[in-house]
Amino acid sequence: MKKAWSILPDEWGAELSAYGVRPYRAAQILQSLYRDWIDDWSAATTLPLDLREKLAGDFPITKTSVLATSKSSDGTEKLLVGFEDGESVETVLIPAKGRFTQCISTQVGCAMGCAFCASGSQGVVRSLSADEIVAEYMAGRRRGEITNIVVMGMGEPFANYDETMRALKLINAGKGPNLGARHITLSTCGVVPGIRRLAAEGIQFELSVSLHAPNDELRSRLMPVNRRWPIGELLAECAEYTKATKRIITFEYTVIAGVNDSRDCAEELARRVRSVPMAKVNLIPLSPVAHRPDFKTPQEATMLMFLDVLMKAGVQTMLRRSRGRDADAACGQLRLRRG
Ligand code: SAH
Repeated sequence: MKKAWSILPDEWGAELSAYGVRPYRAAQILQSLYRDWIDDWSAATTLPLDLREKLAGDFPITKTSVLATSKSSDGTEKLLVGFEDGESVETVLIPAKGRFTQCISTQVGCAMGCAFCASGSQGVVRSLSADEIVAEYMAGRRRGEITNIVVMGMGEPFANYDETMRALKLINAGKGPNLGARHITLSTCGVVPGIRRLAAEGIQFELSVSLHAPNDELRSRLMPVNRRWPIGELLAECAEYTKATKRIITFEYTVIAGVNDSRDCAEELARRVRSVPMAKVNLIPLSPVAHRPDFKTPQEATMLMFLDVLMKAGVQTMLRRSRGRDADAACGQLRLRRG
């Protein structure tokens, strides 16, 4: 049994013929799923009743429920999306001028264990399947038309590569939701094989890499993934990626007061990212997390010093700010261009 939201639009014809249904029905099914946005086959009224019943039995539409919501004064809204087995993930909707960005999760919890990250503090429960990730998107788009997706919620997308990619390809598909590839950003903590696979996909998703430290000693302390794929190996793979795809990479650098915010760190960061062609840096102030009260948000002046060092070294850099703090929705991910 396959879930309806795990089948790519181009696959429906083959699915149906294997199933004894005439392939022309595929167009009607796609119309129901991605133009009428049904969430139950009973609503697919262009299809005969017996077909609706068959589809409901054999290609069920994944059910979710919104278990909680919280809205920030800046308009950012967080939804807690529950799945059939009782597990849940957070998705965040971020309105901005002309944009409506959804931050999506790919796993319940996270195994990567970054020291400053709330999602990693409890380990991973399970990965989401492709249809669950699509269902999460659908829960978001019921609140408004999504213009951008950032895969910066709970979980490490490259630790759940196949299901995440299938979901994003479905959301990107012309005969599906048709969200442009360049409007979809994947963020990884540095799972090198995932970067290599993405480069080979030939698809124009945007890539962000969470760096947060300029050397192995500090990075391994903050991000255990660095012990598996040290920073030299990671940056070499990033350089390969930009050469092969001609696409930029954005490095995320969360600034933590007194931890990774020295002028030396900024200078070392500039030197290292310059080894990657077409690299950009986003500087993000830490969002405080309950399990690490010793990690503090830096002063504005520190952010500006960092920005200045990087810019003078010729690195394209942006300061980001958190959104949704009062909705408890802020992490590094909930940020927008300043001003
Ligand atoms: N696993 C992926 C995507 C999820 S996290 C990744 O690591 O990139 C999205 C971003 O938020 C990452 O850059 C992550 O390091 C950052 N982040 C996590 N906790 C944060 C915090 N407390 N303050 C600021 N940024 C944080």
